[in-house]
Amino acid sequence: MRPLTRRLFIGRVPIGGGAPVSIQSMTKTDTRDVEATLSQIRGLATAGCEIIRAAVPDAAAADALKAIVAQSPLPVVADIHFDHRLALEALKAGVHALRINPGNIGARWKVEEVVRSARDRGVPIRIGVNAGSLEKDLLERHGRPAPGALVESALRHAEILESLDFRDIKISLKSSDVSTTVEANRLMAGRCDYPLHLGVTEAGTVFAGSIRSALGIGILLYEGIGDTIRVSLTGPPEEEVRAGLEILRSLGLRSGGPMVVSCPTCGRCRTDIIPVVQAVEAEILKRGWDVHAAVMGCEVNGPGEARLAEIGIAFGEGQALIFIGGKPHRKIGLEDPVGEFLKDVEAYAMERQRIHPVPGDPK
Ligand code: SF4
Repeated sequence: MRPLTRRLFIGRVPIGGGAPVSIQSMTKTDTRDVEATLSQIRGLATAGCEIIRAAVPDAAAADALKAIVAQSPLPVVADIHFDHRLALEALKAGVHALRINPGNIGARWKVEEVVRSARDRGVPIRIGVNAGSLEKDLLERHGRPAPGALVESALRHAEILESLDFRDIKISLKSSDVSTTVEANRLMAGRCDYPLHLGVTEAGTVFAGSIRSALGIGILLYEGIGDTIRVSLTGPPEEEVRAGLEILRSLGLRSGGPMVVSCPTCGRCRTDIIPVVQAVEAEILKRGWDVHAAVMGCEVNGPGEARLAEIGIAFGEGQALIFIGGKPHRKIGLEDPVGEFLKDVEAYAMERQRIHPVPGDPK
């Protein structure tokens, strides 16, 4: 278990120092398109995202940040490469954190300007080292993007900030290779007390990327390393948040929030539950209902699992039985099991008043 890391805040979200591991994602819209970006952020907030990062490739994107930050329900991190003027504009726009590598900014005075502005505003800086963009000399010396090279690169960037007495730092070391990511973060955890942002970069499609991320992030979190996570997927960003939540839940680091479990089905299955699960899960996630629901295929093992969830449905011959709080609630026919079940799920979610309110969500 890693000793407690330094605590910093991204907006209202605490990172490190024993704070719950938070979930981040990145917008995939053109940042200059304020409405599309805000709409995606709202959807991500409903899905359970806690911090959002947006790419800032040019001055127009930096300018758009003003409106985005003002209306975003989540704290916003500006992702900037090289150009210190964009970092300064993003800070003026009120972003809650910067992702920029000080070693790539150039002249010392430029770094100083960014650090001064970040410090004045209480904005932390994430140093993000990726295996694909390591410094040439490190690649030559290590022969490949080895874990030690990633750590060395991050420490170099950190030293620049430390030399300016800036320690509101968060570090990420990412590779598309799971073992390299794990080893690099283990090494880093022993070399500093800065909070670590975990992720496997360029992890791939939703299926393959979720598995790689679950392994890389999961191994580290299990060892007590890591303060905030981002699952990177080639797919809708909501999938990144769902995968992140599942990783945290699976490790017992998070409870609550929308969760749907279902049986794998087998020869005993009484109905085709795949479309039922898909429809139920889609609606629960869309509405952000804070419920643990189960959809089970038969009356043999189904009721047991359905009872363990807050609300569950087990299919039988010509009918299905809905359970609430572990007790049979009502029997329904098979004409519209999805609609009937969702009625009960909604009533349950409302009654307990556990729905996630999302500021600014028009829903
Ligand atoms: Fe098979 Fe029933 Fe178990 Fe589903 S709940 S896998 S249908 S035995």
